[in-house]
Amino acid sequence: MNLIDCHTHSTNSPDAESSPDAMLKRAAELGLSAYALTDHCEVNRFFSYGHYSDHGDPENTFDFGVTFENSMRDNMRLKEQYKGKLNFINGIELGQAQYDFSLAAEIASDCRLDFVIGSIHQVRGAEDFAFIDHSKNDPAELIRRYYSEIYELCEKGDFDILGHLTYPLRYIEGDFGIKVDMKAADEIIRESLRVLVRRGKGIEINTSGLRQRYGKTFPDLYYVRMFREEGGEFISIGSDAHCTDDLGKGIADGISIAQAAGFDRLTYFIGRRPQFIDI
Ligand SMILES: [Zn+2]
Ligand SMILES: [Zn+2]
Repeated sequence: MNLIDCHTHSTNSPDAESSPDAMLKRAAELGLSAYALTDHCEVNRFFSYGHYSDHGDPENTFDFGVTFENSMRDNMRLKEQYKGKLNFINGIELGQAQYDFSLAAEIASDCRLDFVIGSIHQVRGAEDFAFIDHSKNDPAELIRRYYSEIYELCEKGDFDILGHLTYPLRYIEGDFGIKVDMKAADEIIRESLRVLVRRGKGIEINTSGLRQRYGKTFPDLYYVRMFREEGGEFISIGSDAHCTDDLGKGIADGISIAQAAGFDRLTYFIGRRPQFIDI
Protein backbone atom coordinates (compact mmCIF):
# COMPACT_ATOMS: atom_id res chain seq x y z
CA MET A 1 0.00 0.00 0.00
CA ASN A 2 1.19 3.50 -0.83
CA LEU A 3 1.29 5.34 2.47
CA ILE A 4 1.78 9.09 2.69
CA ASP A 5 1.76 11.46 5.63
CA CYS A 6 1.23 15.07 4.62
CA HIS A 7 0.55 16.78 7.95
CA THR A 8 3.18 16.51 10.71
CA HIS A 9 5.01 18.79 13.15
CA SER A 10 8.52 18.98 14.55
CA THR A 11 10.12 21.11 17.28
CA ASN A 12 9.83 24.00 14.83
CA SER A 13 6.25 24.05 16.13
CA PRO A 14 5.89 25.20 19.75
CA ASP A 15 3.67 22.24 20.69
CA ALA A 16 5.71 19.37 19.16
CA GLU A 17 8.28 17.01 20.69
CA SER A 18 10.57 15.54 18.01
CA SER A 19 13.27 17.31 16.02
CA PRO A 20 12.88 17.69 12.25
CA ASP A 21 15.83 15.30 11.81
CA ALA A 22 14.14 12.66 13.95
CA MET A 23 10.86 13.03 12.05
CA LEU A 24 12.53 12.52 8.65
CA LYS A 25 14.50 9.56 9.95
CA ARG A 26 11.25 7.95 11.11
CA ALA A 27 9.43 8.74 7.82
CA ALA A 28 12.28 7.11 5.88
CA GLU A 29 12.16 4.02 8.14
CA LEU A 30 8.42 3.70 7.47
CA GLY A 31 9.10 3.83 3.72
CA LEU A 32 6.43 6.49 3.08
CA SER A 33 5.74 7.31 -0.58
CA ALA A 34 5.52 11.00 0.33
CA TYR A 35 6.17 12.81 3.59
CA ALA A 36 5.54 16.43 4.59
CA LEU A 37 6.69 18.46 7.56
CA THR A 38 4.08 21.18 8.04
CA ASP A 39 5.12 23.20 11.08
CA HIS A 40 2.77 25.81 12.47
CA CYS A 41 2.83 29.34 11.16
CA GLU A 42 0.06 31.28 12.90
CA VAL A 43 -0.63 34.39 10.85
CA ASN A 44 -2.22 36.27 13.78
CA ARG A 45 0.94 35.78 15.86
CA PHE A 46 3.56 36.10 13.11
CA PHE A 47 5.25 39.05 14.82
CA SER A 48 6.30 39.50 18.44
CA TYR A 49 3.81 40.13 21.27
CA GLY A 50 4.43 43.90 21.31
CA HIS A 51 3.44 44.27 17.66
CA TYR A 52 -0.22 43.67 18.39
CA SER A 53 -2.64 46.16 19.94
CA ASP A 54 -5.05 43.36 20.79
CA HIS A 55 -2.45 41.09 22.30
CA GLY A 56 -4.62 38.22 23.42
CA ASP A 57 -3.25 35.82 25.97
CA PRO A 58 0.46 36.58 26.66
CA GLU A 59 0.87 32.87 27.41
CA ASN A 60 0.37 32.25 23.70
CA THR A 61 3.40 31.78 21.48
CA PHE A 62 4.24 34.67 19.18
CA ASP A 63 7.06 35.25 16.67
CA PHE A 64 5.94 32.65 14.17
CA GLY A 65 7.93 34.62 11.60
CA VAL A 66 11.07 33.42 13.39
CA THR A 67 9.95 29.79 13.65
CA PHE A 68 8.91 29.89 10.00
CA GLU A 69 12.47 30.82 8.99
CA ASN A 70 13.92 28.10 11.24
CA SER A 71 11.57 25.58 9.70
CA MET A 72 12.46 26.56 6.12
CA ARG A 73 16.18 26.41 6.92
CA ASP A 74 15.94 22.93 8.49
CA ASN A 75 13.61 21.58 5.83
CA MET A 76 15.79 22.75 2.93
CA ARG A 77 18.84 21.16 4.58
CA LEU A 78 16.95 17.89 5.11
CA LYS A 79 15.58 17.90 1.58
CA GLU A 80 19.16 17.91 0.32
CA GLN A 81 20.24 15.26 2.83
CA TYR A 82 17.41 12.86 1.91
CA LYS A 83 17.56 13.39 -1.86
CA GLY A 84 16.81 10.05 -3.58
CA LYS A 85 15.93 8.43 -0.24
CA LEU A 86 12.67 10.09 0.75
CA ASN A 87 10.04 12.00 -1.19
CA PHE A 88 10.15 14.93 1.23
CA ILE A 89 7.76 17.86 1.04
CA ASN A 90 8.60 21.21 2.58
CA GLY A 91 5.26 22.41 3.91
CA ILE A 92 3.62 24.64 6.50
CA GLU A 93 0.34 24.70 8.32
CA LEU A 94 -0.70 28.31 7.86
CA GLY A 95 -3.14 29.18 10.65
CA GLN A 96 -5.68 32.01 10.77
CA ALA A 97 -5.05 33.56 7.36
CA GLN A 98 -8.44 35.26 7.81
CA TYR A 99 -6.80 37.62 10.37
CA ASP A 100 -4.59 39.12 7.66
CA PHE A 101 -5.01 37.73 4.15
CA SER A 102 -2.27 39.87 2.63
CA LEU A 103 0.36 38.79 5.19
CA ALA A 104 -0.78 35.18 4.75
CA ALA A 105 -0.41 35.44 0.96
CA GLU A 106 3.07 36.89 1.38
CA ILE A 107 4.11 33.97 3.61
CA ALA A 108 2.57 31.39 1.27
CA SER A 109 4.37 32.90 -1.74
CA ASP A 110 7.79 31.83 -0.37
CA CYS A 111 9.34 29.92 -3.26
CA ARG A 112 10.93 27.35 -0.90
CA LEU A 113 7.50 26.00 -0.02
CA ASP A 114 6.15 22.87 -1.66
CA PHE A 115 2.90 22.75 0.17
CA VAL A 116 0.56 24.91 2.28
CA ILE A 117 -2.19 23.65 4.56
CA GLY A 118 -4.74 26.36 5.39
CA SER A 119 -6.16 25.94 8.90
CA ILE A 120 -8.23 27.81 11.43
CA HIS A 121 -7.51 27.13 15.11
CA GLN A 122 -9.23 30.22 16.49
CA VAL A 123 -11.93 32.53 15.22
CA ARG A 124 -11.63 36.30 15.43
CA GLY A 125 -11.92 37.57 18.95
CA ALA A 126 -11.65 34.13 20.57
CA GLU A 127 -8.88 31.87 21.80
CA ASP A 128 -7.80 28.65 20.08
CA PHE A 129 -10.54 26.02 20.42
CA ALA A 130 -7.98 24.01 22.40
CA PHE A 131 -7.92 26.62 25.20
CA ILE A 132 -11.63 27.47 25.52
CA ASP A 133 -13.73 26.13 28.38
CA HIS A 134 -16.53 24.86 26.15
CA SER A 135 -18.75 24.06 29.13
CA LYS A 136 -19.05 27.83 29.75
CA ASN A 137 -19.67 28.87 26.15
CA ASP A 138 -22.32 28.29 23.54
CA PRO A 139 -20.65 25.79 21.21
CA ALA A 140 -23.29 26.37 18.50
CA GLU A 141 -22.35 30.06 18.28
CA LEU A 142 -18.62 29.30 18.06
CA ILE A 143 -19.26 26.64 15.42
CA ARG A 144 -21.29 29.13 13.38
CA ARG A 145 -18.46 31.67 13.52
CA TYR A 146 -15.87 29.00 12.71
CA TYR A 147 -17.62 27.89 9.50
CA SER A 148 -18.31 31.43 8.44
CA GLU A 149 -14.55 32.13 8.69
CA ILE A 150 -13.76 28.79 6.99
CA TYR A 151 -15.92 29.95 4.07
CA GLU A 152 -13.98 33.21 3.95
CA LEU A 153 -10.69 31.29 4.00
CA CYS A 154 -11.88 29.07 1.14
CA GLU A 155 -12.82 32.18 -0.86
CA LYS A 156 -9.68 34.24 -0.26
CA GLY A 157 -6.90 32.06 1.13
CA ASP A 158 -3.71 31.04 -0.65
CA PHE A 159 -3.22 27.38 0.30
CA ASP A 160 -3.35 23.92 -1.29
CA ILE A 161 -5.28 21.80 1.21
CA LEU A 162 -7.81 22.91 3.81
CA GLY A 163 -6.72 21.56 7.22
CA HIS A 164 -8.93 19.53 9.56
CA LEU A 165 -12.34 20.84 8.46
CA THR A 166 -14.02 19.72 11.70
CA TYR A 167 -11.29 20.91 14.10
CA PRO A 168 -13.67 22.33 16.81
CA LEU A 169 -15.11 18.83 17.35
CA ARG A 170 -11.73 17.62 18.65
CA TYR A 171 -12.35 19.75 21.75
CA ILE A 172 -16.10 20.30 22.01
CA GLU A 173 -17.13 16.68 21.40
CA GLY A 174 -13.84 14.90 22.10
CA ASP A 175 -12.58 16.62 25.26
CA PHE A 176 -15.80 18.13 26.67
CA GLY A 177 -18.21 15.40 25.54
CA ILE A 178 -20.70 18.03 24.30
CA LYS A 179 -22.58 16.69 21.28
CA VAL A 180 -22.71 19.22 18.44
CA ASP A 181 -25.59 19.26 15.98
CA MET A 182 -23.65 19.78 12.75
CA LYS A 183 -26.77 19.90 10.55
CA ALA A 184 -26.97 23.69 10.95
CA ALA A 185 -23.50 23.96 9.41
CA ASP A 186 -24.08 21.57 6.51
CA GLU A 187 -25.11 24.23 4.02
CA ILE A 188 -22.13 26.55 4.58
CA ILE A 189 -19.76 23.56 4.61
CA ARG A 190 -21.14 22.39 1.26
CA GLU A 191 -20.74 25.93 -0.09
CA SER A 192 -17.16 26.07 1.19
CA LEU A 193 -16.34 22.75 -0.46
CA ARG A 194 -17.78 24.03 -3.74
CA VAL A 195 -15.51 27.06 -3.52
CA LEU A 196 -12.50 24.79 -2.94
CA VAL A 197 -13.40 22.77 -6.03
CA ARG A 198 -13.81 25.93 -8.11
CA ARG A 199 -10.44 27.26 -6.88
CA GLY A 200 -8.62 23.93 -7.50
CA LYS A 201 -7.96 23.17 -3.85
CA GLY A 202 -8.41 20.08 -1.73
CA ILE A 203 -9.13 18.87 1.77
CA GLU A 204 -7.28 16.52 4.07
CA ILE A 205 -8.34 13.51 6.09
CA ASN A 206 -6.62 14.30 9.38
CA THR A 207 -6.27 11.04 11.29
CA SER A 208 -5.28 12.53 14.67
CA GLY A 209 -8.85 12.14 15.96
CA LEU A 210 -8.54 8.36 15.69
CA ARG A 211 -5.99 8.34 18.52
CA GLN A 212 -7.79 11.01 20.57
CA ARG A 213 -11.03 10.90 22.53
CA TYR A 214 -13.03 12.06 19.49
CA GLY A 215 -12.37 8.70 17.81
CA LYS A 216 -12.99 9.82 14.19
CA THR A 217 -11.01 11.60 11.49
CA PHE A 218 -11.24 15.36 10.85
CA PRO A 219 -13.44 15.38 8.83
CA ASP A 220 -15.16 12.01 8.85
CA LEU A 221 -16.53 10.11 5.84
CA TYR A 222 -19.71 12.23 5.67
CA TYR A 223 -17.84 15.42 4.63
CA VAL A 224 -15.19 13.61 2.57
CA ARG A 225 -18.06 12.15 0.56
CA MET A 226 -19.71 15.57 0.33
CA PHE A 227 -16.46 17.00 -1.09
CA ARG A 228 -16.38 14.20 -3.68
CA GLU A 229 -20.05 14.78 -4.59
CA GLU A 230 -19.25 18.42 -5.24
CA GLY A 231 -16.51 17.41 -7.67
CA GLY A 232 -13.53 17.40 -5.28
CA GLU A 233 -10.40 15.91 -6.79
CA PHE A 234 -7.58 16.60 -4.36
CA ILE A 235 -7.59 14.56 -1.17
CA SER A 236 -4.63 14.51 1.20
CA ILE A 237 -4.02 12.45 4.34
CA GLY A 238 -2.04 13.42 7.42
CA SER A 239 -1.51 12.05 10.92
CA ASP A 240 -0.94 15.53 12.45
CA ALA A 241 1.83 13.79 14.43
CA HIS A 242 3.65 16.00 16.95
CA CYS A 243 6.23 13.26 17.72
CA THR A 244 7.90 10.36 15.89
CA ASP A 245 5.68 7.77 17.61
CA ASP A 246 2.54 9.15 15.94
CA LEU A 247 4.03 9.57 12.48
CA GLY A 248 2.03 7.58 9.90
CA LYS A 249 -0.64 6.61 12.44
CA GLY A 250 -4.13 6.05 11.05
CA ILE A 251 -3.08 6.60 7.44
CA ALA A 252 -4.39 3.18 6.31
CA ASP A 253 -7.77 4.03 7.94
CA GLY A 254 -7.70 7.40 6.18
CA ILE A 255 -7.15 5.66 2.86
CA SER A 256 -10.20 3.44 3.49
CA ILE A 257 -12.28 6.58 4.07
CA ALA A 258 -10.96 8.18 0.87
CA GLN A 259 -11.85 5.02 -1.06
CA ALA A 260 -15.31 4.79 0.53
CA ALA A 261 -15.92 8.40 -0.57
CA GLY A 262 -15.02 7.47 -4.15
CA PHE A 263 -11.39 8.60 -4.45
CA ASP A 264 -8.95 6.28 -6.24
CA ARG A 265 -5.87 8.44 -5.71
CA LEU A 266 -4.31 10.69 -3.08
CA THR A 267 -2.80 14.08 -3.72
CA TYR A 268 0.38 15.62 -2.38
CA PHE A 269 2.15 18.78 -3.48
CA ILE A 270 5.64 19.54 -4.75
CA GLY A 271 6.42 23.16 -5.66
CA ARG A 272 2.72 23.89 -4.91
CA ARG A 273 1.69 21.57 -7.79
CA PRO A 274 -0.51 18.49 -7.26
CA GLN A 275 1.03 15.03 -7.60
CA PHE A 276 -0.99 11.83 -7.42
CA ILE A 277 -0.61 8.41 -5.85
CA ASP A 278 -3.02 5.58 -6.66
CA ILE A 279 -4.75 3.84 -3.80
ZN1 LIG B 1 -4.01 22.39 12.97
ZN1 LIG C 1 -1.27 20.35 12.63
